Amino acid sequence: MTNKDLADLLFPSITKTIKDYEEMYPERNLKEGEKVTRFAPSPTGYMHLGGFYQAIIDYVLAKNSNGVFFLRNEDTDTKREVKEATKLIMDTLTHYNIIPDEYEFEGNIVGSYGPYVQSERKEIYHAFIKYLIEIGRAYPCFCTKEELDEMREVQERSKVRTGYYGSYAKYRNVPVEELISKVKEGIPYVIRFKSMGDFNKKFVFEDLVKGKIELPENDEDFVIMKSGDGLPTYHFAHLVDDYLMHTTHVVRGEEWLSSVPKHIELFRTFGFKPPKYVHTPLIIKKEGTSVRKISKRKDPEASMTYYKEKGYPVKAVIEALMTIINSNYEEWHTANSDKEFTDFVYSPKKMSSSGAFFDLEKLDNIAKTVISKMTKDEVYDNLYNWTKDYDKEFNELITKYEDYTKNVLNIEREQKKPRKDYSCYSEIKNQIFYMYDELYNPSSYDWGSITDKDEINKILNLYMDKYYDISDKEVWFNNIKELCDNLGYASNMKDYKENPDNYKGSVADVSTVLRVAITSKSMTPDLYEIMKLLGKDRIISRIEKLK
Ligand code: GLU
Repeated sequence: MTNKDLADLLFPSITKTIKDYEEMYPERNLKEGEKVTRFAPSPTGYMHLGGFYQAIIDYVLAKNSNGVFFLRNEDTDTKREVKEATKLIMDTLTHYNIIPDEYEFEGNIVGSYGPYVQSERKEIYHAFIKYLIEIGRAYPCFCTKEELDEMREVQERSKVRTGYYGSYAKYRNVPVEELISKVKEGIPYVIRFKSMGDFNKKFVFEDLVKGKIELPENDEDFVIMKSGDGLPTYHFAHLVDDYLMHTTHVVRGEEWLSSVPKHIELFRTFGFKPPKYVHTPLIIKKEGTSVRKISKRKDPEASMTYYKEKGYPVKAVIEALMTIINSNYEEWHTANSDKEFTDFVYSPKKMSSSGAFFDLEKLDNIAKTVISKMTKDEVYDNLYNWTKDYDKEFNELITKYEDYTKNVLNIEREQKKPRKDYSCYSEIKNQIFYMYDELYNPSSYDWGSITDKDEINKILNLYMDKYYDISDKEVWFNNIKELCDNLGYASNMKDYKENPDNYKGSVADVSTVLRVAITSKSMTPDLYEIMKLLGKDRIISRIEKLK
């Protein structure tokens, strides 16, 4: 009996060969330098910031080079799979406008290299595994979990490297007849790769981020096909998929670096050219004075859902990630503010190899600038979309008062130096609530330096009786100054600073009284604009309420 008999016994219905698949998925028509990248998440129901940042790199690499970016659903670990998970991945990419050129979603395949869902590619993997069995480079292993645990214990006790390799690889040299009869008996098995590597030998591997590194050859007969569902492991699926889909660059987390020797040996065994690898550093954050890996368990911001729920602008999240992807991005972006992030030429060499430092404060700053540069219509639309999902009440209000809301949002906007007040859409309501009677019900007032009730009333009464005029900003301000002169407050800040004892206070204090009486807040954008939008009736009623 031969390896061929074993291969036929294991995969009786597999008739297609590797060659058949090579013909089905021919070389892509790429021009020099065009890159093919893929985002290959496992559908776990959680979209990690670290995964998304890899997707951005994939996207930029492909767009930079006029290449192809595709999405592959790596669902071979069916125990972990969550039904809605694929939707979450698609929704996240769509939200950020990182649209793959090829993908599969809800049964719809876009692209000629699919299926793009691993569990639908079982036959393809089996053809490749069948070939390895035929050439004697893979075999079934019948070890039980207990046997493997025991082997590991023995290795630990004798202080040798753990793993299924060399003389520890129990089924490696078992005659094919015996393997066949065990399969026929129905004993469960996995398929293992038969390694020819030597752990004591090193080879040079070039990672695009870390540069040339020396790695030991693989000598483990690692599992390539699991028992039960017959699906491949990541190592094997990666080889088959990235080969047939003609991926040129694999961008993945640096936790995969230690698996590179396995992957390289697999590629060599098939005689395939491996893709280029971009092993991305972990995303780290500050905690006190030290830094640590951003964690799914501890950090809400590790999940992409966080940014959507808070309502961070899409552009800001991408900008913030681009700045940690390449440290020269910010400088480039300042010099090329009219360009898209996809115009930036990403360089893996410029990635920090010790960790990508992500900082929420930085994101807030970026987001404030991004929102401040939006037109009133843009902020309104974004706020509308965000509230539709996350704040129904406010959504109804801004729909009812659409034009008014746009004017409110336009205070100190659409000008050379716009005001930077909001870092995300969820912050807006709390900052402009006083512009809506429906939301205005202050339980406290931020009075500034003037807190005496009688004095406050005096200022407000006189203002409303004699000085209220909002026909023009200059008139409005001159009137406030006259009010100051009338009541013994300095109408000119310079005079006040020179002789503070000559006055009860200054025009700043008086303005604060007005501001707080009308909005309950001591810090707001331009009070004149606010008063104009609120109108006299509402101003009067708010002042009345204070009495
Ligand atoms: N499915 C793998 C993961 O989620 C992908 C790694 C890769 O991109 O090759 O980690």
